[in-house]
Amino acid sequence: MTDNKKWEVVIGLEVHAQLSTETKIFCGCKSEYGAPANSRICPVCMGMPGVLPVLNRQSVEYGIKAGLAMNCEIASYSRFARKNYFYPDSPKGYQISQFEEPLCENGFINIGTDSNSKKIGITRIHLEEDAGKSMHEPNRPESKVDLNRAGVPLLEIVSEPDLRSPEESYEYLVKLKQLLRYLGISDCNMEEGSLRCDANISIRKPGDKKFGTKTELKNMNSFRGVEKALHAEIKRQIETLESGGTIVQVTNLWDESSGEIKQMRAKEGSDDYRYFPEPDLVPFTIDQKQINGIKENLPELPEKKMDRFVSEYKLKDEHALVLTASRGVAEYFEELTTITEDPKNSANWIMGNVSRVLNDAGISIDEFTVAPARLAELMKNVSDGSISISAARTVFDEMLTDESPVGSVIEKLGLKQMSDSSEIDKIVQEVIDSNPDEAERYKSGEAKLKGWFVGQIMKASHGKANPQIANESLDRLLNIDS
Ligand SMILES: [Zn+2]
Repeated sequence: MTDNKKWEVVIGLEVHAQLSTETKIFCGCKSEYGAPANSRICPVCMGMPGVLPVLNRQSVEYGIKAGLAMNCEIASYSRFARKNYFYPDSPKGYQISQFEEPLCENGFINIGTDSNSKKIGITRIHLEEDAGKSMHEPNRPESKVDLNRAGVPLLEIVSEPDLRSPEESYEYLVKLKQLLRYLGISDCNMEEGSLRCDANISIRKPGDKKFGTKTELKNMNSFRGVEKALHAEIKRQIETLESGGTIVQVTNLWDESSGEIKQMRAKEGSDDYRYFPEPDLVPFTIDQKQINGIKENLPELPEKKMDRFVSEYKLKDEHALVLTASRGVAEYFEELTTITEDPKNSANWIMGNVSRVLNDAGISIDEFTVAPARLAELMKNVSDGSISISAARTVFDEMLTDESPVGSVIEKLGLKQMSDSSEIDKIVQEVIDSNPDEAERYKSGEAKLKGWFVGQIMKASHGKANPQIANESLDRLLNIDS
């Protein structure tokens, strides 16, 4: 693309992830997605006078989990602040956020692979409440506001300006989402707005110590959208500087449909928000015992899991990477392997047929209907010669909708392999009898005819003869040592 070697790109990302707590951060309203507009609100999240917010401790615990997973220092003392701004989707006229005393600071996550990994610094992770949602219907003069989302807990994760390309930024987002989902604290669904990303972008000459003037970019709706928008903004900045212009500190909007950058407003500095400590909430303290307790209960995280899969199951690095991409897939694999005691074959089934089905249907493993025990049963039918590997694929596809026992599905599809040698002998003898010339030539050493014979036998048995038994039978009936 346009990012040429004459410029170094500097990107920092601010990600907002909705925490999947049952209730909002300062009141008891449910924080579910998709409820009728303005049906999940109360005087607290509506900002009525005289009410007091009460902190949802689970959101603090979730924030600490994220901080630990991203190698942060967890604050022993943390406090909320009011960020003042006026916007129709904020009924209070301010947002309760954190400013000078965030929950977590100074962490990092690794992107890239083991041999080529890069540390991306995490400046801070803090808690805040979400705003409502303004809705502008096409061809209607009015705007509407749904406040169901107002007060839903958000985690704001701010990276250091360590990212050097749109591609690295994409990788960072994938990694961040993977971690949050492993922790089970956010579903990170960008389409439903439970994950949002803003970017700060500047460019400078390679070797420069000072950063260039940065712009902020908003309104990206997917990870690929972030990547595309960053490319467009970098191109715009390079063209501006190379034609003698200067970069102005602004907030820009990405327009996905036109693929263009549109200027939204001059960027506010933090002064403009007139932050001050939230007087209605007491500062909170977190002791080491609580942090240790949360640490002990963290799930095994992707990098560790991947290393373990390589050493414990003797998987190739690239296979372990695929199998640990999501916690659900990793757990499915381990459950399957426990039953089959065959990690390699289990991995192949998941990376092959299972992934095919998930991709085609656009679903996650959690929505996949064939339980590991049923897949293991199918795999057993292949290994004991009851069905061929190609028939297994047909049976597998049928199992997606037919929940009857695997044996009955095989029976129903008529795919049970013929493994009774006397039965196979009968077919083989018929094939030999009707092809005496070929039989003679094979007997006198024309080895390549073997494949032809097996083909004839498979044809005569309608594809059901166990090929290995058919092979043995052929040589035995022709008195050939094989
Ligand atoms: Zn409420």
